[in-house]
Amino acid sequence: MISRKSPREIAFMREAGRIVALAHEAVKEAVRVGISTARIDAIVEATIRAHGATPSFKGYGGFPASACTSLNEEIIHGIPAKTRRLAEGDILKVDIGAEYKGYHGDSAWTYPVGAIPEATRKLLEVTREALFEGVRHAVPGNRLQDISHAVQSHVEKHRFSVVRDFVGHGIGKRLHEAPEVPNFGEAGKGPILKPGMTLAIEPMVNAGTHETKILDDGWTAVTADSSLSAHYEHTVLITEKGYELLTVLEGGDRHG
Ligand code: MG
Ligand code: MG
Repeated sequence: MISRKSPREIAFMREAGRIVALAHEAVKEAVRVGISTARIDAIVEATIRAHGATPSFKGYGGFPASACTSLNEEIIHGIPAKTRRLAEGDILKVDIGAEYKGYHGDSAWTYPVGAIPEATRKLLEVTREALFEGVRHAVPGNRLQDISHAVQSHVEKHRFSVVRDFVGHGIGKRLHEAPEVPNFGEAGKGPILKPGMTLAIEPMVNAGTHETKILDDGWTAVTADSSLSAHYEHTVLITEKGYELLTVLEGGDRHG
């Protein structure tokens, strides 16, 4: 069962999403050589709370922080730490969730630290493009895997690989709801998308193998071959005629 949100619920999700976007704005300002991932996490938490929301991730399944901060070969679920400091050429994935009046927004972005090599820049660009290829297919009447297929095709055209072990998801009253939204699949398969559905679309793209492993901390997912990984995510509402990005600032993207 994929829940369809009422106008009232959508209003709460828009606000949750806006707060997540504000937290990302604060991160963008803060990312620089020498800052610790714990400091980034503190900035995220303060921004979320300053707007009357709570961090969705803190305590979720026992996760100890408000943001997931994953560096370089780390894919997702990196734990912020005072001892992890950003260095020139790093890429930092920051994943942020906020709960506002019982509804969640979820968005991830990959931030370059200082100057990054051209091959790394390309990985980020292709992953970001893949997110928007997926989003473009999140319209009523399409099937769920039209999104998956669009993401996968774009990534593989550029000879990168999509992570299979972690996927996007429905979102609303709970951070993770049905359905799963894989970043790989066959066009024309899966449930039909309908207005009021809200999905977190989130390609995780590796420069090398798609295979992953989990570090001893029990959380951090890394690429099995230590290649770089990028991650971009938006929470998206299916509208009557198209889609609306929810994890953006006011006046953000709306199509159809
Ligand atoms: Mg996320
Ligand atoms: Mg998510």
